[in-house]
Amino acid sequence: MIVTLHYDPIVTDDPKLASMRLRINAMAQQIDSRLSIHDLRCVPGPTHTNVIFDCVRPSDLQMSAEDLKHALAQRVESEYPKSVAKITIDEDYVGHTHE
Ligand SMILES: [Zn+2]
Repeated sequence: MIVTLHYDPIVTDDPKLASMRLRINAMAQQIDSRLSIHDLRCVPGPTHTNVIFDCVRPSDLQMSAEDLKHALAQRVESEYPKSVAKITIDEDYVGHTHE
């Protein structure tokens, strides 16, 4: 019997990613102390790495989801020069379940 192992290119649990999560979380909190990120993952490509994560936006934040995305992406991309931030803004509604 031949077992085929499938390797997912998405890195989810190396220590670099853990420290990145902390740094990006700190960047989010510079924008607003209530902000936090989750579901961070990195997808390396030939020219750049996609840095993908969700950010929860409090409903009364004085910043639109688009502005928040831009502000965070700018910080992430200047901290990690070869990265492109792909951010999903989660509106802070009841029932959104994540780890
Ligand atoms: Zn989410």
